[in-house]
Amino acid sequence: MSLPQRTTVLIVGSGPCGLAAALSLNHQGIHDILIVDAVLAGENSSRAMVIQAATLEALNTVGCLDKLLSVGNKVEKLGLHDGSSYLLSSDFSLLSPYTKFPFALCIPQTETEAGMLEKLDQLSIKVWRPYKVVSLKPAQDAEEQLFDVQFESGDTVKAKYVIGADGAHSVVRSEAKIAFSDPNGDDDHDYGNLSQLALGDVAFTSPPQLDTPGDGVSLTFSDGDFTLFTPFPADASPDKTRNVYRIVSSVPAKDGTAPHAPSAEYLQSLLDRCGPPSLSSDPAVNPHPTRVEKVYWSSRYRTRSAVAVRYFAREPNGGAVLLIGDAAHIHSPLGGQGMSLGIRDAISLGPVLKAHIDSANGVASDALFEEWAASRRKRAVSVVALTKETLGIITAPRRVWSPLLKLGFAVLRMLGTFKFVKRMVAYRLSGLAEI
Ligand SMILES: Cc1cc2nc3c(=O)[nH]c(=O)nc-3n(C[C@H](O)[C@H](O)[C@H](O)COP(=O)(O)OP(=O)(O)OC[C@H]3O[C@@H](n4cnc5c(N)ncnc54)[C@H](O)[C@@H]3O)c2cc1C
Repeated sequence: MSLPQRTTVLIVGSGPCGLAAALSLNHQGIHDILIVDAVLAGENSSRAMVIQAATLEALNTVGCLDKLLSVGNKVEKLGLHDGSSYLLSSDFSLLSPYTKFPFALCIPQTETEAGMLEKLDQLSIKVWRPYKVVSLKPAQDAEEQLFDVQFESGDTVKAKYVIGADGAHSVVRSEAKIAFSDPNGDDDHDYGNLSQLALGDVAFTSPPQLDTPGDGVSLTFSDGDFTLFTPFPADASPDKTRNVYRIVSSVPAKDGTAPHAPSAEYLQSLLDRCGPPSLSSDPAVNPHPTRVEKVYWSSRYRTRSAVAVRYFAREPNGGAVLLIGDAAHIHSPLGGQGMSLGIRDAISLGPVLKAHIDSANGVASDALFEEWAASRRKRAVSVVALTKETLGIITAPRRVWSPLLKLGFAVLRMLGTFKFVKRMVAYRLSGLAEI
């Protein structure tokens, strides 16, 4: 079957945000949509591991939650350690007055995408692959405002609305000439050891003996370093015969660039130097020494924040361009916010696009898009601020006088015993304040 030559809505990119946009548009009764992706199915990787409560609410509105809930781990507690002791725990169960989903869902991105694809399949919506968009031009020969969208394959599709869900290096964004930069003009900021993160889905020689086993996610930060540790959901595990964990670690700046796919030895060396004692292979610091034995997937991530200056653009005589997900905003994965925010961009766009299509005069109603774009951008800027605050706390040992830092941590430890503080941290992370 060849690619249709015309569509009302073209969604470029079938990552989690493009898929969520297709679900949302279908839910609004918009059926003339085409979703394309540059790569074949299965070429994307594990990456994001957490879906926040606000995003679970959004996915529920488009009928795409049950499968994800059946696969993921419902995490109620997220523990923060300073390397030697517990600082505080954020308790998502305290969010029950505000949401039907008082937890964070730990589920690998591949499973999130698989759940959405299954739902789209049930709705007979297919993803066209591999079709890589290379340019967007206002259509010359059309009576309405349309784009001619050109593909690497030589195909052209006419589209009235183009949703750029094509990730951080978005072609849609660059074709629409939309700038993408740090909202605080901080493009060259040095985050020290957190400038790079190494990630892996791994099995250990023996299961790590955590001092707080009730925490679904454990974060440790000490001396300007950071480690995240969370068990993989059994139903999404790449190995049903043993316990698999997602680990994320900062990379000491003096180590240089991390490898594309860090090995077991590389990841263990980071855990030995940057991680908590319970993940160390050194019997001198860990009474139950353990070691990364097998790596199922691994990658690296360079910390950078950027937000598109506009999420909506219209060229004279062209169609409308709308940006969602990583095409619109990127930031540190600390706090697991990026994918969750992007999915909410996508789902919130459905009713706005429906209202635009239904409105009598398309151009006048661009105010609908402007309003949506401004409010989504504001949320992205606020999430960038949250991730920068977190980075600031973790990298404080490089900047703050040590006795003052110890005092700061003591205050944090004391505050962390109060229920309202646990709830406040959980509320901020959940995205419920940002819906
Ligand atoms: C190593 C790593 C770890 C991460 N960890 C986390 C985490 O813990 N928590 C979190 O929330 N986020 C995390 N992220 C970020 C998260 O993966 C992204 O926020 C999420 O994937 C964004 O989804 P998206 O749909 O916007 O873009 P993407 O997932 O990037 O999908 C874009 C899609 O567009 C397609 N595409 C690109 N260009 C074109 C084109 N020209 N034509 C057609 N198709 C095109 C691509 O093939 C791709 O399928 C991580 C990212 C990385 C790289």
